[in-house]
Amino acid sequence: MIRRKLIAGNWKMNKTAADGVALIKDITAEIGRLGSVDIVVCPPFTALESAAKALEGQSVKLGAQNMHPEKSGAYTGEVSAEMLRSLFVSHVILGHSERRTYFAETDAFINKKVVASLANQLKPILCVGETLAEREAGQTLAVVQKQTEGGLAGVTAEQITNVVIAYEPVWAIGTGKVATTAQAQEVHAFIRDLLTKLYGAPLAQKIRILYGGSMKPSNAPELLAEKDIDGGLIGGASLEARSFIDLVKAAD
Ligand code: PEP
Repeated sequence: MIRRKLIAGNWKMNKTAADGVALIKDITAEIGRLGSVDIVVCPPFTALESAAKALEGQSVKLGAQNMHPEKSGAYTGEVSAEMLRSLFVSHVILGHSERRTYFAETDAFINKKVVASLANQLKPILCVGETLAEREAGQTLAVVQKQTEGGLAGVTAEQITNVVIAYEPVWAIGTGKVATTAQAQEVHAFIRDLLTKLYGAPLAQKIRILYGGSMKPSNAPELLAEKDIDGGLIGGASLEARSFIDLVKAAD
């Protein structure tokens, strides 16, 4: 069973188009074509086009941070899968906890996006994870199960290996509080079991499950050594070339 590690940088609402190009140049100058790690950067919408140009001929892939499930229409402020594809975007983060919390996104709405992304040859990075209150109430696995099953409703066996799951405990995002390797591995193994029940073991073994939440070069080696942790979704540490490169190297 071989799953290539994946390191994805979520820039959130940071970087102008010019800042993004500068960061990409610094990253690609040092990383070149690392053979054993898949790398994705996810700039804000306004930096996607220039990022795509800066990534021409590079092995680093381009991701978006969100999309709308409809093809087109009266959805002010939104962008569709087709629009992202036209900018050479290959991945899209869906269901990030910031979208769930600040924009009231539900599992049903996130599921529509997952289905639409796959129908348009985009690879969704579906984020799931519990809040601190849910963890303290012993609800972690139930929350993760509901979000995973809800997000994947209607995703077929043919499509599932194009999906990446990101386990991001909400209490660890941007807080500096990283989950222990044991806490992370427990949930990753639980998600893998769930995927096995839904899609069978051969497919479940191929699906990448990333950890996200204050991952840094210092804590990455331990997390990435766990059997079911297949990479990272990185927020803060993806905004600086040095820390992002070191994270990619930790996964190599
Ligand atoms: C994220 O927002 O996906 C994330 C993991 O952020 P950070 O690495 O800053 O905790």
